[in-house]
Order: sequence, then structure tokens, then C-alpha cells
Amino acid sequence: SLTIGIVGLPNVGKSTLFNALTKNDVLAANYPFATIEPNVGVVGLPDERLGKLAELFGSEKIIPAPVSFVDIAGLVRGASKGQGRGNAFLANIRDASAICQVVRAFSDPNVLHVDGKVSPADDIETINTELILADLQTVEKVLPRLQKEAKLKKERAATVAAAEGAFKLLNDGITLHAGAAAAGVDVSLLGELHLLTTKPFLYVFNVDEAELNNAAFLDELRALVAPAEAVFMDAKIESELIDLPPDEAQELLESTGQTEPGLDQLIRIGFNTLGLQTYLTAGPKEARAWVIPTGATAPEAAGVIHSDFQRGFIKAEIVSFDDLMAAGSMSAAKAAGKVRMEGKDYIMKDGDVVEFRFNV
Ligand code: GDP
Repeated sequence: SLTIGIVGLPNVGKSTLFNALTKNDVLAANYPFATIEPNVGVVGLPDERLGKLAELFGSEKIIPAPVSFVDIAGLVRGASKGQGRGNAFLANIRDASAICQVVRAFSDPNVLHVDGKVSPADDIETINTELILADLQTVEKVLPRLQKEAKLKKERAATVAAAEGAFKLLNDGITLHAGAAAAGVDVSLLGELHLLTTKPFLYVFNVDEAELNNAAFLDELRALVAPAEAVFMDAKIESELIDLPPDEAQELLESTGQTEPGLDQLIRIGFNTLGLQTYLTAGPKEARAWVIPTGATAPEAAGVIHSDFQRGFIKAEIVSFDDLMAAGSMSAAKAAGKVRMEGKDYIMKDGDVVEFRFNV
């Protein structure tokens, strides 16, 4: 499944953040068939539209889209040279679709920094370097074999060119996600290598509560990672928010000047980084969000509910969430001509409210 791997140096607040995330766990209630491991947390994508749909349709429950996070331990300075548990982190991180680095930006002198000083820029560089070194080792190891193969099979030439291009970028200290497109390196040919730096990155800056509204400070941090996305939070506050009843949590949130918990922002931005979107279904039983890749067709979207829906797809009755809300009910939306019948070539849009017609 699509997971976001959480990495970061020791003592930056990873566990604090991860524990807060997993207390948010929606898996137990709504995804009983998923197997879950201790380092995996499955949380619900915050989506205000579901509550409104549930109200309109009198749905008994709300099932948000799941987003998985995996806590990737052991990525420390020198990991690629065998420090700590060495490359043990690789197995976990390979399966992640995006990488989220937690960066310490809080000052607390009682919490030791592994490198002796709080420096977000240095920490980002350290983690980046380890990932780049890991990829460099991977490419170095296979390059001679690929070059030999290409002498026998012409069709492998493009793969060798991609590997050589990747090697050059990595050797220059550039992640493949950041540099491959501009350098004309086709990393899609290197899928078998499971390179880490081809994955999209996002960043969580763990800041002091007092800095949460310091726009100049946050802009400085944002500039370190742009164009990658940055989320700012105080992990300690987030872990307190999770333990409070809703009204008290709201009070604490307001006292920090925030309108939305940092965790919710992280889940949303993480979900977007994965290149995914949701469509919605609603009825008396449930109002639910379903995850599809951007660009999915209507039958592909149906297949997410059940493979039979895709196989027997006839058409989809679709209204955009906004049109449905503006009309006030499904029948009013139909009367206003806002409900469309779409066929098998229809490309789904985020927020489509859908009912599929299919043969079984
Ligand atoms: P990890 O090693 O990255 O998993 O870091 P932990 O989550 O275990 O945090 C290390 C220490 O820093 C713990 O004592 C936490 O209580 C503390 N800590 C984590 N987040 C914050 C924060 O936002 N502010 C402060 N002051 N301390 C924090």
C-alpha cells in the first residue's frame, strides 16, 4: 500500500510525533483486514466533506481515506558506512512511497542533540547525504553488470544511460527526485534498483510553541527545503492535543494560535505528496472516501471498491461535491442537471460523489 516513511536523526521528536499519529489510528475500526505492524500507523485523511455528506444522506458512520505512516528507525549519520544498525533501515524505507523527514527546530537544552547543536540545515544535509550514499552504493554495484548486459542486448542501452546519469547526479550530491527530470535521466527505467532518492520528500519541522506563529522563522525553514513541502508543529503539543477531549483540545489549539492540528496538516500534505486523490460515496450506512491515483478512470475507481465493480462497470452517476451541496439534496442536484452519467473513459476528479452501475 502507499505509505509515508518517517525518518530523522535521533532525538528530533520522531517517536513523539509517530505516537501521536498512531493514537489517531482509524485502522482498527474501519480497516479490520489490514495487517498492522508495530512501526506502522494508519490514520484517516481529515476531510470535512465527509461530515457534510453524512448529514445529507443520514449516514450511520464516516470512513475517511487511510494514510499509512511507517516509522523508519536506524537512519543515522554514517548508516551507509555501517554506523548504528548500518543499512538495516533500507528494507523499511524501500517500501515507502514518500519520505518525511522530521527536523529538530526546537531549542530545549535538556534534550541532547546528537551533533551537539540544533541546526536544521545540517540535519537535513546529513539525512540527504545518507540516502544519496545508499543510492550511490546501489548504482555502483549494478552498473558493471548493466554495462556488460547492454553489450549483448541493445535494448538495455537506455537503462545503462539512466543508471550512468543517476550515478553522476548522486555523485554530485543531488537527489534523483530533485535532479533527474532536469538532467534528462529517466529513473522509471531504474525501478528494479528501488532507489531511495527518487521518492518525493516532505519535511516536518518540530518547532517551539513560541515559534509557531513566527512567520519569518518559519519562512527561513521553508526556504531550506523548497520546493518540497514543509509542515510546522510542536510535537509535544500535538501529543497533548491527541489526549484531550475535543473541546479542551480546541482550546489548547486556539491558545497556540493554530486553526488546525499540525498532524492533520501532515496527513493532508503527505497524502497529496503521494499523488493521490479521493472520490466519495454516501448512503444510509456510510459516507466514505476512496483513494485513487490522479488520472484514474471511472472503472478503475470502481475497482477500488471491488474488482467486480470494475469488471462489470456500466456507468457512473456523478455529481461534484460542491454542486451537490449547492443543490442541497441528490434529487435537487438531479433536477438542476448537475448529476452526470459518465462512461468508462471518464477521468475522475477529486471530490466526485459517485454511484456506480455495474453488471455482476
Ligand atoms: P526521536 O529520537 O526522534 O524519536 O525523539 P523523541 O520523540 O523520543 O524525542 C526526544 C526527546 O525530545 C524526548 O524527551 C521528547 O519529550 C523531546 N521532545 C520531542 N518533541 C519535542 C518538542 O517539540 N519540544 C521539546 N521541548 N521537546 C521535545
